[in-house]
Amino acid sequence: MKSQEPDPNYFSSSSSSSSLVSSTKWWSKETIAIVTGANKGIGFALVKRLAELGLTVILTARDVERGQRAVESLSEKGLPVNFFQLDVSDPSSIEAFVSWFKSNFAALDILVNNAGVSFNDIYKNTVEHAETVIRTNFYGAKLLTESLLPLFRRSPSKSRILNISSRLGTLSKVRNPNIKSILEDEELSEEQIERFVGLFLQSAKNGTWKSQGWPEIWTDYAVSKLALNAYTMVLAKRYEGEGISVNSYCPGFTQTSMTQGQGSHTADEAADVGARLLLLHPQQLPTAKFYIGLDPFVKSNL
Ligand code: NDP
Repeated sequence: MKSQEPDPNYFSSSSSSSSLVSSTKWWSKETIAIVTGANKGIGFALVKRLAELGLTVILTARDVERGQRAVESLSEKGLPVNFFQLDVSDPSSIEAFVSWFKSNFAALDILVNNAGVSFNDIYKNTVEHAETVIRTNFYGAKLLTESLLPLFRRSPSKSRILNISSRLGTLSKVRNPNIKSILEDEELSEEQIERFVGLFLQSAKNGTWKSQGWPEIWTDYAVSKLALNAYTMVLAKRYEGEGISVNSYCPGFTQTSMTQGQGSHTADEAADVGARLLLLHPQQLPTAKFYIGLDPFVKSNL
């Protein structure tokens, strides 16, 4: 998958929602979007932005109370959104969510796989929670996506999946050529991605991960995002010309709980760019792209 800076022409020349709406609006209240892990951080900011822009948004959160609090705070701002509990690391929660979605909505247009965890402090690296990190950040997104795929409207102009990823998950971070080659295969398959992830989990378990050339920073998290990016590419290929666009987006170093509040920009700023990527005009909608950061976009467009 190639990383790509957004093309300035995809967007209006101003950051205000009115100009985004007037020059490129293809969506309406009938456009249905799901965002995972949306009770706080970038997910919450994305829900807010999409609701402001007039889509029907489903805010999901693994904790009902935290989720409902987030929904209430939006409602107080005049932004009503739907809510359902969803723990992406729990297959039975995914099943319950998909069943609720099916009985309440005719079809799905947009899925944002945003939910994610890291158990590392900013300058520390531990793989103690590797299984949870991989189960949430990679398998959670994958299982939810697979379960929702049949429900997409499959409109070439509308159906979109955006996986919130990280530049830590770029292939250059893998230093072992043998491991790297698994994901470099032109005919990359889901089985190969799972093999890659399995090898890492094995080395995390037997304590050999440090010497094997896995990414050096936030190793388990980086592996989960490498797998998510690879899955983005496999899925994009599977649906090329079939009406679903699939891309990844790294929001850059953002001030959220995950970074203990550190970062170069706010969640709202990251979400603004994320929403713009999500809502690209159908004629310019790419697939299999990895968008990194908001600086290039800000410089060229705002
Ligand atoms: P936050 O920690 O603020 O938010 C993470 C969200 O994911 C929370 O709502 C959390 O819920 C939710 N979550 C965690 N586990 C699950 C689960 N099993 N099921 C459902 N929801 C879950 O972090 P960010 O907003 O920063 O992270 C959002 C995304 O952006 C992540 O995918 C992250 O990897 C990515 N990202 C963030 C960067 C940054 O600098 N902040 C940089 C690059 C990528 P709860 O409140 O219950 O824990």
